[in-house]
Amino acid sequence: MHQSQKEPLQKIIPRKELFLLDLDGTTYIENRLIPGALDFLNKITAQNKQYIFLTNNSSKSNSDYVRKINNLGISAGPDNVFTSGQATAVYVTGKKTKPAIYCVGTQSLKEELESYGITILESDIDNADFLVIGFDMELEYHKLEKACYLLSIGKPYIATHPDLVCPVKDNRFIPDCGSFCQMLENATGRTPTYIGKPDKKMITLLCEQRGISLEKAVMIGDRLYTDIAVGLNAGVTTFCVLSGESTMEDIRKSEFQPDFVIESIAELNRYLQDDLE
Ligand SMILES: [Mg+2]
Repeated sequence: MHQSQKEPLQKIIPRKELFLLDLDGTTYIENRLIPGALDFLNKITAQNKQYIFLTNNSSKSNSDYVRKINNLGISAGPDNVFTSGQATAVYVTGKKTKPAIYCVGTQSLKEELESYGITILESDIDNADFLVIGFDMELEYHKLEKACYLLSIGKPYIATHPDLVCPVKDNRFIPDCGSFCQMLENATGRTPTYIGKPDKKMITLLCEQRGISLEKAVMIGDRLYTDIAVGLNAGVTTFCVLSGESTMEDIRKSEFQPDFVIESIAELNRYLQDDLE
């Protein structure tokens, strides 16, 4: 199923070299792979193309995610995952060499940021160059107090991603980074610079790193205001899957219109057959 488009998928897909994929709702749901997902990833690798999972969830690090997807049977390495925490580290270190920050985030996020040469301050927070807030599933009130103080004295303020909620089991949601930011905005009037999807840097940075032009990249995801929006912002071909949170009705009503709508990533398998090369 696809919307009116100049070229058919059997022409478009074989030309693409970099497949950027969302995880939850696109590659797996909770801890179950989407049927056909493994076949899809194996075909990409067999054809010397690349895939990278783009995730906004900054509560986990790159290595946490590699472990998780390996456990699902996907033989991916660190180069196959890019988190909003990593993107934040690239952004912050691009703004200042050897920065010191105060971080409202999980231990995993702090370790990820430290691996990029960022110093995490727990005391003397007046010396922080930035306040960084992530999806802190270890949130405690004293962290909010410190964040509030740093915002009140005008420290640069960065959030790893804007998602308001994170889907969990049984169609439930829990508050995510964007909701914490709204609480801090109510308290201080400050809004952060958001990294992560839909910021186009999540894609442009990777294309630069891999030496792949944007025309050869695609973004596949289930959430319109992050996955599809990031693809539109970066100018790559976008696919919205119906295996996650978006319905056809959501897509019809959305300001973020994907180039293609597909049932799931398995629908792309047929376009990666060797005889189409
Ligand atoms: Mg998703």
